[in-house]
Amino acid sequence: MIEKATRDKWRLRWQMERAVRRVARELGLTPPFGPHMFAGRLVCKGCYIVIEPSDMGRHGLYGQCTAAGDYYHIRYRENAGMGQRELIIWHELAHIVLGHVTPDLKERQFTITPEKEYLAEVWAEAMMAYASALGWGLRPRAATGIGRLIQDLAER
Ligand SMILES: [Zn+2]
Repeated sequence: MIEKATRDKWRLRWQMERAVRRVARELGLTPPFGPHMFAGRLVCKGCYIVIEPSDMGRHGLYGQCTAAGDYYHIRYRENAGMGQRELIIWHELAHIVLGHVTPDLKERQFTITPEKEYLAEVWAEAMMAYASALGWGLRPRAATGIGRLIQDLAER
């Protein structure tokens, strides 16, 4: 007997895996590609993204995304490991792609809710796994998720 929460998690994971493939296709990206290349392609959709390292010390955060005018500004923790850094940037890009932060917001920083954080995290993990085109190391949940299994079967 599988818990409903587990089934919901798998379903969301599967939906996100399809969503990241769709957005990559729309942007003309084929794996492997990184978050910087992805952000560069968003420019053609009128979305300007500046990505830069930060000590993030004062906030105790891993990453942050703000919007002002036509620009999105992503900061990531500069002392994070390489894989983690990439996941942080994907996570912040997720907030943009999922519409959690938009330039028309009055406040500099968007409202963070646990639900938005969770969605951004699942999107980021799915995108990082897809974009990396690697079968190891960079696929934190993908290696065990039912969504991965179904996708792998579908690709045979
Ligand atoms: Zn977040």
